[in-house]
Amino acid sequence: MLEVKNLSVSYGGIKALKSISITVPDRQIVTLIGANGAGKSTTLRAISKLIKHDTGTIIYNGEDITNINARDTVKKGITMIPEGRHVFPDMTVMENLRLGAYLRNDKKQIREDIDYMFDLFPVLRERSSQLAGTLSGGEQQMLAVSRALMARPKMLMMDEPSLGLAPMLVKDIFAIIERVNKEDGLPILLIEQNANFALKVADYGYVLETGTIQLEGTGDQLLQNEKVKELYLGTGD
Ligand code: ATP
Repeated sequence: MLEVKNLSVSYGGIKALKSISITVPDRQIVTLIGANGAGKSTTLRAISKLIKHDTGTIIYNGEDITNINARDTVKKGITMIPEGRHVFPDMTVMENLRLGAYLRNDKKQIREDIDYMFDLFPVLRERSSQLAGTLSGGEQQMLAVSRALMARPKMLMMDEPSLGLAPMLVKDIFAIIERVNKEDGLPILLIEQNANFALKVADYGYVLETGTIQLEGTGDQLLQNEKVKELYLGTGD
């Protein structure tokens, strides 16, 4: 379980996060929704230690990890898939997947995991020897997700996995997110502008507005909330 308490971050004196607290319990999907610039990516970057925070504590499975560095955060099993498609364009699909497992040395298990990724995303099997940079946007997103899973993370943080994907693929990506959560019990902190999908798959959600948490509740509660409907689901009266 990840517990973030009173986290504040500023960029050059401008406060981007103002003392937010969020919890990601074991085996759950938690989503952070909010408009552009609300501070969603900043939250993930601060948890990953890619940026410095001003105040706050981060507790992971009972251990205070507030002051460890980015590399040690990854070693603890906390993996982030950043916004945009971060694949190595000049390497093949297979090489990208193997690279995801670079911290592991259980060769047989790695081969099995690659097969599992190909079951999740059959198109990647067909294109295993194709250079990643020549894949379509959606295929690159699938590869980015698979590569992150190859590290066998204990917790996954995803920054807008549906960004720029065709509607059909958005459905697919959310189905996969649900599947790895249910099958592997992987806790996921999911950032999305696509609030409708995110709240449907999430056990719990937080609504972030200009650096503060304005609302929180179960996915269903937030889907029914009038303010959420009006501002984030486009279905308000
Ligand atoms: P989006 O959905 O558009 O990606 P977001 O909710 O992820 O938005 P953040 O990227 O966390 O928002 O940005 C929060 C605020 O901090 C914004 O006002 C942004 O302009 C500002 N900000 C983010 N990164 C930096 C930076 N490196 N330097 C200065 N300001 C920054």
